[in-house]
Amino acid sequence: MEELRSLGELRGRGVPQLENRDGRDFTVAATHEEAAVELAKDRIQSYRDLDTCFYQIGRKFRDDHARKGLIRAKEFTMMDAYSFHASHEDLEERYDGFLEAYRRVFDRLGLSYSVVAADNGSMGGTDSHEFIAESEAGSDTYMKCDSCEYGTKDLSVEVCDGCGASLRQVDGIEIGHCFDLGTRYSESMGLEFAREDGGLDHVLMASYGIGVSRVIAAVIEQNHDDRGIDWNSEVSAFDVSIVLAHHGDEARNEARRVHNELEESGLDVLLYDGQRSVGERFAESDLLGIGLKVVVGNTFLEDGELELETRSEETTRCSMRNLMVEVRKLI
Ligand SMILES: [Zn+2]
Repeated sequence: MEELRSLGELRGRGVPQLENRDGRDFTVAATHEEAAVELAKDRIQSYRDLDTCFYQIGRKFRDDHARKGLIRAKEFTMMDAYSFHASHEDLEERYDGFLEAYRRVFDRLGLSYSVVAADNGSMGGTDSHEFIAESEAGSDTYMKCDSCEYGTKDLSVEVCDGCGASLRQVDGIEIGHCFDLGTRYSESMGLEFAREDGGLDHVLMASYGIGVSRVIAAVIEQNHDDRGIDWNSEVSAFDVSIVLAHHGDEARNEARRVHNELEESGLDVLLYDGQRSVGERFAESDLLGIGLKVVVGNTFLEDGELELETRSEETTRCSMRNLMVEVRKLI
């Protein structure tokens, strides 16, 4: 809930209005475009004040049907940004920059996603791009190209507009959205700037959002198995876990040596040598989503070899000397 200084423009749009204890106007914002325009009015007078961009990262609340774990929660974290421009060329440059930045974010998270030129729904405006991660748990149905990033919500389209490959109908999770809003908000709320020649124009505007907690849900949906989350290497807190599978001091010292060697090589390593049973150490490593285990147990005591076990239970043996080479192959 946030305070706005001017609610006049919002009246009649179905925006709920309340009064606080001091008799000032409050509203529950359905989206934050209006609040961003109010902020911009204080900061934008002339062309010299443009371009400009505001963003926030915060919790939002929605009276939604909570379902499917983290995907549609009543509380979620969102990053939203609003840019303001004097010309369409400036807006396009910034808008394309955001599209590219979002691609980099989702690529680094290891997500498989499509970019759908979406209809504008309740937001209005002239142009928008929706980032959708493929998932059976998602509630957005769309046509996906497997050869490029193209996707469309028009389910009658069978061939990719970008590369000509055939499309698949899949479900997905919306993880990001960019809107070219044009002058929709600046006209209705009176956001103008003085041009260099002194005349007045409406400010052009675009908005951008990433559902931060939704992105985590999408990564989980695309990376899990029967034992739990299988974080990909971009997201996982640990690259490797070391499971001490023997109770003697010799194995314990070796496990610590392996831990130090891997950490010194720049890997994030979790060492299991505490109170848990050996079985619990294996299970917890899987549950935490760690992709590779180094097991120090009987094979070390008998043959001086470590066992590397992937999540798909492929096991290889190696000596301490070859450890880094073998680990690098598997993570
Ligand atoms: Zn394609």
